[in-house]
Amino acid sequence: MTLKEAMKLDADELKNLRAELKQKIEDNKELGAYVEQFTGEELNVVGEGVPIAVKDNIQVKGWSVTCASNILQGYIAPYDATVIDKMASSGLSPFGRTNMDEFAMGSSTENSFYGKTLNPVNPNCVPGGSSGGSAAAVGAGLAIAALGSDTGGSIRQPASFCGCVGMKPTYGKVSRYGLTAFSSSLDQIGPITQNVEDAAILYDILAGYESKDSTSLNESHIKVSENLDPKRKLTIAVIENYLSEASEEVRVSIENSVKLLEKAGHKIVYKNMLNSKYDIAAYYVTATAEASANLSRFDGVRYGNRAEATNLNDMYIKTRSEGFGEEVKRRILLGTFVLSSGYYDAYYIQAQKTRNLIKEQFDELFNEVDLVLTPTAPTTAFEFGSKKDPVEMYLSDIYTIGVNLAGVPAISIPIGFDGKGLPIGGQLIAKANDEQTLFDGAMSWEEVLK
Ligand code: GLN
Repeated sequence: MTLKEAMKLDADELKNLRAELKQKIEDNKELGAYVEQFTGEELNVVGEGVPIAVKDNIQVKGWSVTCASNILQGYIAPYDATVIDKMASSGLSPFGRTNMDEFAMGSSTENSFYGKTLNPVNPNCVPGGSSGGSAAAVGAGLAIAALGSDTGGSIRQPASFCGCVGMKPTYGKVSRYGLTAFSSSLDQIGPITQNVEDAAILYDILAGYESKDSTSLNESHIKVSENLDPKRKLTIAVIENYLSEASEEVRVSIENSVKLLEKAGHKIVYKNMLNSKYDIAAYYVTATAEASANLSRFDGVRYGNRAEATNLNDMYIKTRSEGFGEEVKRRILLGTFVLSSGYYDAYYIQAQKTRNLIKEQFDELFNEVDLVLTPTAPTTAFEFGSKKDPVEMYLSDIYTIGVNLAGVPAISIPIGFDGKGLPIGGQLIAKANDEQTLFDGAMSWEEVLK
């Protein structure tokens, strides 16, 4: 059942739907999509609306929120995130917490304190990350729709690995109030759904100004789902040099889609973008710098777990050493290094200049075209344990992280399968605040594939 359909159900039907989902989640426990699941009775904090799965870094008052980390075990959210409030006013209620890479750092959901989430299509493969639990839940039919967060691709890449739609809004369109900060200038909450229309509906519910969030765009939200027009003829730039970095099967699938879009009347132009190695470098300096500052708040005093120690300094050290996983520690160290005096100019400032170039490059492209088209990820879902070198893992995001650095909106939709039956994702990118064109184009792409 789609979100659109579920929103038409009456109270009794919704009750049945929740019971059905609960049973299904129980029957598919080995998938590991959810880390905790509520129906309402347990905590008496969950409403009676359309059940939506929520990534474990978004606060739901009275629930645990742990970012899949040991350090936050036992922490209970004291307030609702803005997105949760907004869902409630549209008749949607949080249904369970989904698994993720610890503090949203990763591309495979292998970095979770709770253990791995399996890809619903092939249990030997990762679901992608960091919103792997949310994408697996939607892909396996264990959620009508889900919330994810995207700092460098964490909604779009898992959506592409699990065969669902995932969308990252323009920076500031959806409030981050109540989202645990990873990299504050990049993070955005967004929808993971079964189709493009549902993504537009959920995006409309989540978007809008929040006075408690200084990075929230102060403007009224015009609903895109009420104006969807897949018949609009658009100019779409295919990024040629990106295609050569993708696997053969991903490339062929994209080329096939491009032909269909052209046949449907869209104008296709071919463009090149900066080598994606600059995106990766600028991202991992920026994101780790911000993460090292953001994660300093987890000190054993204010949140969650506290280690036993004889003095304050030891307590900090022990709490953080025991509480954080390996990848999180690596990022804190890297972030602290790039911000340290003597290296700040060489790394952090350089990264900000590169970020600016990436943004200008998108600005130039959008002077000419309505949308940019790329694969979502260079490959389909990979096997567990196959990316041992962290840098190799970072390369999963070559097509998605530039979008966050530029603050523009993007969507991933399922466009085909590889030889092993694993889903392939295609990405569309629009200029800032042009979600309407993004969804119109995505809907058209979805239709030409039918
Ligand atoms: N995979 C990227 C990282 O590890 C992006 C994560 C995200 O978008 N949260 O940082």
